[in-house]
Amino acid sequence: MLNRRALLTGAAALPAAIASGSALAADPCSLPTKWDKTYDVIVIGSGGAGMSAGIVAKEAGANAVVLEKLAFPGGNTLVSGGGLNAAVPEDAKAAGVEDSPELHAKQTLAAGDFRGDPELVAILTKGAPESIKWLEKIGVKYRPGVYQIYGGLWPRCHNPLGQSGSDYIKAAVSYAKKIGLEVFTNHKITGIIREKPDAGRVFGVEVEVKGRKEYWRATKGVVAAAGGFSANPQMCSFFDPRLTRLNTTNQPGATGEVLTYIQSVNGLAVGLDYIQCIPWTAPGYKHTADVFQAIEYCIFINKEGKRYVAEDARRDVIRDATLAQTDQTVYQLVDVDGFVENNKYYDKMNHEALKNGTLFEANTLDELAKLVNLPAEELKKTVAEYNRLVDTKKDPLGRSEKMLCRKIVKAPFYAGPFGMCRHHTMGGARIDTKARVLDRQGKVIPGLYAAGEVTGGIHGTNRVGGNAIADIFTFGRLAGASAAAGV
Ligand SMILES: Cc1cc2nc3c(=O)[nH]c(=O)nc-3n(C[C@H](O)[C@H](O)[C@H](O)COP(=O)(O)OP(=O)(O)OC[C@H]3O[C@@H](n4cnc5c(N)ncnc54)[C@H](O)[C@@H]3O)c2cc1C
Repeated sequence: MLNRRALLTGAAALPAAIASGSALAADPCSLPTKWDKTYDVIVIGSGGAGMSAGIVAKEAGANAVVLEKLAFPGGNTLVSGGGLNAAVPEDAKAAGVEDSPELHAKQTLAAGDFRGDPELVAILTKGAPESIKWLEKIGVKYRPGVYQIYGGLWPRCHNPLGQSGSDYIKAAVSYAKKIGLEVFTNHKITGIIREKPDAGRVFGVEVEVKGRKEYWRATKGVVAAAGGFSANPQMCSFFDPRLTRLNTTNQPGATGEVLTYIQSVNGLAVGLDYIQCIPWTAPGYKHTADVFQAIEYCIFINKEGKRYVAEDARRDVIRDATLAQTDQTVYQLVDVDGFVENNKYYDKMNHEALKNGTLFEANTLDELAKLVNLPAEELKKTVAEYNRLVDTKKDPLGRSEKMLCRKIVKAPFYAGPFGMCRHHTMGGARIDTKARVLDRQGKVIPGLYAAGEVTGGIHGTNRVGGNAIADIFTFGRLAGASAAAGV
């Protein structure tokens, strides 16, 4: 690092912007004396947001690079279900519903208690169908049709052929190779370098490579696409102490340090206590089944054998209701039609669950209750009552009429335990409509862009199921284009 005397006497090789006459850093000791590498655009993180930003920047003519701290690319995008919400009129028509980007935006804003920025939400919902086309261009193939993903609120979810977000990462990595976009794994960003901590341009990043610190210059921009922080229990419980004991659905890279680097260069962070949980492994379990995606077939039961929440409610409503149940452990229940329908998306996981003791199959509800250890009489009463609701279309718990469409009647029946897991952090760096990071005074930080789960201010208090994958590819492409253009 440069010492103050060397800088003031001009003895050191200065960063280009300083040498060319822009203001000296308030603390020059935080600036490197020399850059180990120089690119136009440096992208932090190789999930969907980072890969799409890198590809778009590279195709716009920028010398771009993607840096990933883990030994493999993909982040949460890789392990996700891959469901992407997009209002595509012909798919909606085939599903028997109306849809449009405007309706998608309206529902997204309402679901987040109107805490999302309407301009950013409009970009998301208009951009989502374009993201599907872009993903098809880079080699992703989709299953036909749309469905309502868990927490999705409307049937507009598109799933890739392989039932997983790994389809996106495989396609992006192989497309990157084809266009000569470098993606370096085992490169951990440990700081963002700005001219002054609270002013001036972002010059580049500090990178840890094989235990050594390096300084990499980005002449046009740094794109932060480092994901959320649900795998960081301390950071999550700092903002929401109820979540301390829960498991997480996230891969180990989702630890949030890049967000703190953004804050260190005066970046504005919003909504950090909006942390989403979803049904996944129950406390004390390592595995789970997933028969709640096609939610019209599924009911949730507590240890007392009763339904306790509208299964199609917002994710935050389900989180709060489930965390209040005995042992924070509940059960998902479907009949064979529900099992088959969910297997269109998650058959591998559900067949595994039947083997590893997180899903049970039985020909009668009595048998099922015994296997799962639920009170049989109460369980039968609950299922009978639910089937009656399908006739009356009126649920005292508030399940919508649209989701009261399938009775649970056809053997075999399936049930398995689940709990709430930390899943998605809605808060993060505040960006503008060009994906530029704003500072605490609401001004653009020149040279710093962000996209994906590291950002905040889009989903509000509650992220709609299927909207994150739509977000990362839409804002990832936007951030890549803005950084390459240097806007
Ligand atoms: C199990 C699961 C299922 C999901 N299913 C869906 C779904 O079906 N539909 C939907 O809309 N959403 C889903 N989500 C949410 C969605 O997958 C994520 O919000 C989204 O993938 C985040 O993408 P991203 O590119 O912003 O971040 P990520 O894909 O998480 O990528 C960020 C990358 O940055 C890297 N990184 C972090 N810090 C550093 C650092 N210091 N230096 C270098 N690299 C760093 C990380 O290691 C990671 O690889 C799911 C999430 C999970 C966990």
